[in-house]
Amino acid sequence: MTHSDPHLRGADPRVAGGRLTVDLDALAANYRFLAEQSTPAEAGAVVKADAYGLGTGPVVEALVAEGCRKFFVALPEEGLAVRASAPEADIYVFNGLFSPEAASFYREGRLLPVLNSQSDLAIWEAHGWDDGETPRPCALHLETGMNRLGLSAERANVLAQENALTGALTPRLIISHLACADSPDHPMNRQQLESFQALCALFPGAESSLANSAGIFLGGEFLCDVTRPGVALYGSNPVSGTTNPMRPVASVHARIAQLRHVPAGGTVSYGATPLSRDTRIAVTATGYADGYHRSGSGAGVPLRSALPEGAHGFVGGRRVPVLGRVTMDITLFDVTDLGPDALQVGDFIELMGPNVPVDELASACGTISYELLTSLGHRFERHYLGGGGPV
Ligand SMILES: *Cc1c(COP(=O)(O)O)cnc(C)c1O
Repeated sequence: MTHSDPHLRGADPRVAGGRLTVDLDALAANYRFLAEQSTPAEAGAVVKADAYGLGTGPVVEALVAEGCRKFFVALPEEGLAVRASAPEADIYVFNGLFSPEAASFYREGRLLPVLNSQSDLAIWEAHGWDDGETPRPCALHLETGMNRLGLSAERANVLAQENALTGALTPRLIISHLACADSPDHPMNRQQLESFQALCALFPGAESSLANSAGIFLGGEFLCDVTRPGVALYGSNPVSGTTNPMRPVASVHARIAQLRHVPAGGTVSYGATPLSRDTRIAVTATGYADGYHRSGSGAGVPLRSALPEGAHGFVGGRRVPVLGRVTMDITLFDVTDLGPDALQVGDFIELMGPNVPVDELASACGTISYELLTSLGHRFERHYLGGGGPV
């Protein structure tokens, strides 16, 4: 499937250094699974940061086709991009009512701001849109422990009293965010739930939403009325340390630009990492500028606090280790064990995908799947598989 939007079409496949493949059927299956786990709550979808790097348009279309009716983004322009693919959905913007001018973006896209502060409340009261029945619809973010965004408990109490009199705002959704959801036994989870429930009682007309991907697996009361899965939709394990129930969605393949033989004692890449054996090297045209992190560099490279063996690719049925430092445009792989004729220039090595899970690559790079996905570069050719929707 090719896409008409140049950003989504990606680089020209004849000359791209790598390939990003997004399996929309796997995404849809992940949404169905998360929606089932969220029952009786309704599952929304978090599609901020260009749908975690995978492309807002096709991702949102696939989720709309699965019945998703609530989307969450970080910034107003991301909301407008979602609106283009989801004409009927509720689109909530987590952190973007920076000034009165910002309100015009919300009006244009019928976007719903998540109000986080006194300033947000004032801007929305003065400049919010109004559809007649519901003046200035919005969500409220209530602080319960992250101390990132959100109204304090005191402010929420005052607001509830004032707004009951004035009706200036129509809070449709009350949200808060869990700090430790991926640690199911952490006492913070229950503390935040209890604070949140007490505060939600102030706004009886609104729905409530607390759980991100990991929060869904806390189950029960954590589900509230609406869940907000993000990273699990895109294939990452929502609860680390358990078997991943999600299907892989994103695959990245790097094109082999050159194959070379270097005898034992030779050196590779910046910093001259020495080779301990005669080595066949696949030189691929993908590097950290494409989001293949430098911290995934090979064994013996002293720049990393991540796994000591570095990242692996996958080709010819085998895992192949990164050799030496990952550079901006080039990454080297040790393909000696595949035998001399197994690969050709122009072949592809899987950097991430069904054989190199996103969470495994992230931990090899000393980071998390979120950072890995959202830093995927824009030099890949892109393929969207499945999805069924028109493109
Ligand atoms: C990013 C985000 C989410 C989604 O979190 P995941 O861990 O990716 O499921 C949910 N809620 C808020 C407020 C967020 O910022």
